[in-house]
Amino acid sequence: MKYERIVVAIDLSSESTKILDVAASIAGKNLSAVHAIHVVEPMAIYPYEAYIPDMQKVKDEIGAESKKQLREHADRINIPASNQQLLMGPPASDICRYAAECDAQLIVLGSHGVSGWRVLLGSTANSVIQEAKCDVLTVRVGLDTKE
Ligand code: AMP
Repeated sequence: MKYERIVVAIDLSSESTKILDVAASIAGKNLSAVHAIHVVEPMAIYPYEAYIPDMQKVKDEIGAESKKQLREHADRINIPASNQQLLMGPPASDICRYAAECDAQLIVLGSHGVSGWRVLLGSTANSVIQEAKCDVLTVRVGLDTKE
């Protein structure tokens, strides 16, 4: 089976390079088939909201920085700008919703991310495997993997 549309979800950690490379190798020459997404989690900043005078400015800066990093990652493997998407919300649900909206047949993501503490609650990877309506490929990344 040829995957016509692939969504690759990255948390912008250094492992993102490997995850994108796997998605690109599956897509072959057809990089317009690949959508690179990153989801900014509101939870990451909300607990400090009361202590930060200009919260909107902080949110804008986090959004702009995340967008810049997403663009650098996606540009490196020539994913078109129209296929680079920054979302804001709960990562696993947003990844699955976006994949369904663009009718993707495959989601590629890492087996582990920067949010190791969330293993206790159920990781993004596990939630995506449960929720996705399409195939999911988890690329083995993490401290115990060797290049
Ligand atoms: P986790 O399960 O949170 O340790 O992360 C596993 C993988 O899910 C990461 O390697 C990324 O590929 C993806 N991922 C985690 N968080 C995000 C996010 N905020 N936006 C997009 N992808 C994410």
